[in-house]
Amino acid sequence: MENVNWSDLSFGYMKTDYNVRCYFRDGKWGELEVSSSDIINIHMAATCLHYGQEAFEGLKAFRGKDGKTRVFRMDENAKRMQASSRGIMMAEFPVEKFEEAVRKVVKLNERFIPPYESGSSLYIRPLLIGIGAQVGVKPADEYLFLVFVTPVGPYFKGGFKPAPVCIMRDYDRAAPHGTGTIKVGGNYAASMVAGEKAHKGGYAAVLYLDPREKKYIDECGPANFFGIRGNNYITPASHSILPSITNKSLIQLAQDMGLTVERRPVPIEELATFDEAAECGTAAVIAPISRIDDLDENKSYVYSKDGKPGQVCERLYNKLRGIQYGDEPDVHNWVSIIE
Ligand SMILES: *Cc1c(COP(=O)(O)O)cnc(C)c1O
Repeated sequence: MENVNWSDLSFGYMKTDYNVRCYFRDGKWGELEVSSSDIINIHMAATCLHYGQEAFEGLKAFRGKDGKTRVFRMDENAKRMQASSRGIMMAEFPVEKFEEAVRKVVKLNERFIPPYESGSSLYIRPLLIGIGAQVGVKPADEYLFLVFVTPVGPYFKGGFKPAPVCIMRDYDRAAPHGTGTIKVGGNYAASMVAGEKAHKGGYAAVLYLDPREKKYIDECGPANFFGIRGNNYITPASHSILPSITNKSLIQLAQDMGLTVERRPVPIEELATFDEAAECGTAAVIAPISRIDDLDENKSYVYSKDGKPGQVCERLYNKLRGIQYGDEPDVHNWVSIIE
C-alpha cells in the first residue's frame, strides 16, 4: 500500500477493508458474514454494555521473508475465548469457526499486512459480546462474535530494551476467585487507575501481587511475568493470572534450550534472587524489566543497569520472533500459513 510508513506504526486503530462477524440467535451460531463497516449496531440494553458480558482475544499475523503470511497459535486463542465465555456465561464460539474467521479476515485485508523488513505485523482482535437485551442481571440470549484487524508497529522502536515496572499494593486487577484467569474487559477496567498511575510515574506497567495475601507475584498488567535464575525459567502459578499463550510458548522454548522450568507460586522475596526478569505477551513477545520498584516498601530490584536485556531473555525473544516470521523452523507446529 502507498503512503504508509510501515515501521512507524503505533499500537493504534487504523481502518482496514473488512471485518468478519457471526451472530448467535435462537440457540445457534449463524454463518460468517463479511462487513466493510467498522460500526456495530446493538440494543441499548445489550448485556455487554451493562453487565460486562464481553471477552476478547489478541493475536498477530506476520509477513515472512518468503512473502508468506503466518498466524501464531490461533487454536490456543480460540480455546481461551471459549474458557472466557464459560467464565461469564456467554455462548461458546466453535474453535474451527474461529480459525475460519481469522483466516478470512486476514486474507480479505491482505494489503494491510506489513512487509517483513518493517518489523510490524497485523494485529487480529476477536471479540465476543452479549447483544441480547436484559434489564435484570442474567446472561443474554443473543451474542455477536466479530474479528477485525489493524496493522501495528514493532513494540520496540528503538530496539529490544528493558523498562522499569512498579509494585503498588493498593490495587488488584482481579479477585482471588474472580475473573483473572479469563480475558474479559472487566479486568482491564479494574486495572486502569493503577496502570495510569504507573505510567505517570515513568513505569511500563504494574506488577500485581496475589490479591489474597500480597505475598506472591501475579502478573504484569496485561502480560505474564517470568524470572531467570541461573539455568531456571521461573513463572508464577496463580488463581488470578491469565494463561498467556506467549508464556506457554516460551516455557516450551526454554525447555528446548535446556532450561529448567518452574511454574509455582513465586514469593516476592524471590525477586532479589533473579538474574533477569521480564513481561511476556503477544504485544511485545518479551519486554525485559530493568528494575522493579516496590513503591510501598521503598525497595528496588535491579536487573539491568546498562540498558541492555539479559542474555536468556534475548535468546528466547529471538527464537520466538524467528518462528513467528518464518525465519526459524516451526518444530512445534505453532504457525498456520494463510493462503
Ligand atoms: C492477553 C493477556 C496476557 C498475554 O497473553 P498472550 O496470549 O501471551 O498474548 C497476559 N495477561 C493478561 C491479563 C492478558 O489479558
